Amino acid sequence: MHIRTVEGLVAAGLVDDDAALDAVAAKYVIGITPTVLALIDADDPNDPMARQFVPTPAELETTQEERADPIGDLSHSPVEGIVHRYPDRVLLKAVHVCPVYCRFCFRREMVGPQGLGTLTPAQLDAAVDYIASHDEIWEVILTGGDPLVLSPRRLAEMMARLAGIAHVRIVRFHTRVPVVEPERVDAAMIEALKASGKTTYLAVHANHPREFTPMARAAMARMADAGIALVSQSVLLAGVNDDVETLAALMQGFVENRVQPYYLHHPDLAPGTSHFRVSIAKGQALVSALRGRISGLCQPVYVLDIPGGHGKADIGAATIVGDEGHYSVRDWQGQIHRYPPETDDKV
Ligand SMILES: *Cc1c(COP(=O)(O)O)cnc(C)c1O
Ligand code: SF4
Repeated sequence: MHIRTVEGLVAAGLVDDDAALDAVAAKYVIGITPTVLALIDADDPNDPMARQFVPTPAELETTQEERADPIGDLSHSPVEGIVHRYPDRVLLKAVHVCPVYCRFCFRREMVGPQGLGTLTPAQLDAAVDYIASHDEIWEVILTGGDPLVLSPRRLAEMMARLAGIAHVRIVRFHTRVPVVEPERVDAAMIEALKASGKTTYLAVHANHPREFTPMARAAMARMADAGIALVSQSVLLAGVNDDVETLAALMQGFVENRVQPYYLHHPDLAPGTSHFRVSIAKGQALVSALRGRISGLCQPVYVLDIPGGHGKADIGAATIVGDEGHYSVRDWQGQIHRYPPETDDKV
């Protein structure tokens, strides 16, 4: 059952009938796929899967620093559907629909039926024209919403148009489909993802190791076998993955599935999401702890998207301070060393 309403949540035993949830649902769309539903432990009040997808009245509480456009997409949008913040790459947001609706979503004001909708054919033409006429654009990042809700036919059509733009070399997808609706990743979908003839990258969004179900693992394997380069994307979330054990298992899970860890996002200032926020100091301590604990292959970059549209910054704790000739560098156990070393350190 694909749950899209409060009644659906009640029928599935995920929530009690609660008028506050109707108010939440009126603001922020609900979506839980059968795959995700099967992963929720309704008996556990702190279940990390429920926390990600089942709405709560806490979403009605907004704080002063929260904002509808937390990472400033709209300030860098030259035409509908394009966000051009960095010179060499653009976001192309063709759809604002997702198979699931994450309760912490940074674009929660833009996704779903009340959101920005799907680009009309004319808007898509204008977006593709923009990319074609800016030869500094090396990479096109398909995001949304979730671009893999599009049918393989529509995706392939879009890819065919990018195929004709010589300066575009990389097409990257950001998606949650491989974990939340893995059956969509079939042969036709994989062919569509590669239909631009460019190098295809795909960022898999997952936040808890339990999301790596056998079906999800098989979907990721099909993509990797087809030569699609896979990278990871996760959000650091209070009560979901803000402990070393969970983060370590999550990153190892990615690597086991041939997904290269890429970004661990500090949660954005989206409205009604303060119950998910972790302090930056805690995030830095967690990421530092991963360094000694799991393989170098499993290390994500901890990033903050600076509010106002200023882009991403690496916010992992500095391991080195000082200046040329007088550095102090911190090792994975927290010990400080001089660099270059004192001459009497020599063995
Ligand atoms: C996050 C983001 C990107 C991609 O950034 P990378 O660091 O290349 O992953 C590109 N454009 C915008 C507007 C973004 O928000
Ligand atoms: S899949 Fe992405 S865009 Fe969709 S609700 Fe979740 S975080 Fe937001």
